[in-house]
Amino acid sequence: MASQKKLKILFVSAEVSPFAKTGGLADVAGSLPQALAVMGHDVRIAMPRYKFITHPTETRMDFPVLMGYRKETAIIREYYLDAFQGDVRKTVPVYFVDNYQYFDRDNLYCYYDECERFAFFCRAVIEMLPGLDFKPDIIHCNDWQTGPIPLLLKDIYGILPFYRDIASVFTVHNLHYQGNYPRECLGLLGLAEDYYNQDKLEFYGNVSYLKAGLLYADIINTVSKTYAREIQTPDYGEGMDGLLRSRAGDLYGIVNGIHYHEFNPATDPNIARNYDEKSIEGKRENKRAVQQAMKLPERDVPVIGLISRLVDQKGLDLVADSFAELMKYNIQIALLGSGDPYYEKFFTDMAQKYTDKTAAYIGFNARLAQQIYAGADIFLMPSRFEPCGLGQLISLRYGTIPVVRATGGLADTVTDYDENTGNGNGFVFHEYSSEAFMKTVLRAISIYNDRKDLWTRLVTSVMRMDFSWPASAAEYVKLYRAAIEKRLLHTTTVEGISRK
Ligand code: ADP
Repeated sequence: MASQKKLKILFVSAEVSPFAKTGGLADVAGSLPQALAVMGHDVRIAMPRYKFITHPTETRMDFPVLMGYRKETAIIREYYLDAFQGDVRKTVPVYFVDNYQYFDRDNLYCYYDECERFAFFCRAVIEMLPGLDFKPDIIHCNDWQTGPIPLLLKDIYGILPFYRDIASVFTVHNLHYQGNYPRECLGLLGLAEDYYNQDKLEFYGNVSYLKAGLLYADIINTVSKTYAREIQTPDYGEGMDGLLRSRAGDLYGIVNGIHYHEFNPATDPNIARNYDEKSIEGKRENKRAVQQAMKLPERDVPVIGLISRLVDQKGLDLVADSFAELMKYNIQIALLGSGDPYYEKFFTDMAQKYTDKTAAYIGFNARLAQQIYAGADIFLMPSRFEPCGLGQLISLRYGTIPVVRATGGLADTVTDYDENTGNGNGFVFHEYSSEAFMKTVLRAISIYNDRKDLWTRLVTSVMRMDFSWPASAAEYVKLYRAAIEKRLLHTTTVEGISRK
């Protein structure tokens, strides 16, 4: 059957774990392609080669990319990522797009010439394909850094036969980050001035890379069904809700999975003691280890973990407003995060004030993150909005019970625990208020303290849940096929050829 044909997929992302990561996008970009490869698809990844990526690569080619009136050299370096699930082993080629001027820098983002860096990246990704002799059926773009690709494919490169029927899917991992830049960046993308127009890329006086992806991709999706609904409303739409409503027929929600080999308490080399759902007492040693690592007294009290980018989205004002009250209880808080200087200072101050109850590590530390997931009892994610959220999925995998606000992917993956029936896998509140947050944290603490039997059963049951990739990866394949179908319809209509 034609629909059984294996697909050629190019997955494009500005961050991919294990090479470069600031948040959940990297986890998805590192693990979804592997799941697709295991299903038998020919999937390859493209990402920038940042300075700190030192994996051994093979140089495949270099070529000039026109950036306004200048030419910049793109060097394509290839690396092979092993993908495995059970006994199935596959290889996912990773194309690093290198340019010393744009990417040989200490950090991933937040530079003055961001629009230029990612205009270059998008164009280099498209232009490398004929030289690699790889013509994908689908280019899967992710977040604003890759937003121009669907547009460039259709309106610029699409005049060349090689590109004409390549379909695109654009995934929004976070609508808040939009890549909005002055109109001059149109020239860097090789686009004419008439793209500066409300019906095209203009967005409140800027050119929006995100809008390019939302408008021009054959299919768009986001990372949970609830967030897909939410972003069509003014409250969550970040100014794009009208556009998203106009594309509602092409907008889908697919919840993320997590990499079950990487995030596996039974084999995780980062934690003090490996354990699974049959040996959850192993969490106790991990609790002691995390207390030691974070210089908290080794006490048998509920340890509450918080691992997050420290930004408003994550509901940290609820945590801050409740902090003094929380500190009246016999608990410990282990926080790992970086971001907004206001929150970095707030949590550093709290750790200094409540030395025996709060520890804060300000920075990014993948190993410590695993230690907290394994050693904590409760995990906080009181987000204001949350496209999917991976923290709660990783914590569930490690038997650490999440306290979440019912929004986006948190609403789709965590259901409130019912002491009477034993149903549910976490503690959920709805209203965005510190009262609702505090009440829910206290409920979790009291069940932990007073109903050890129920708590043990809850930990065991959440560790048995399945949030691995295969089911969601199969949904993506359906989206790819729908996008290919749409693209084919479009290109054949353009040529006036009936498909029947
Ligand atoms: P977001 O993508 O909005 O940052 P997610 O919950 O989807 O949030 O994904 C966050 C990912 O980044 C998780 O894997 C989490 O463990 C990890 N993470 C966040 N902050 C840190 C940090 N400071 N150190 C290590 N890992 C972190």
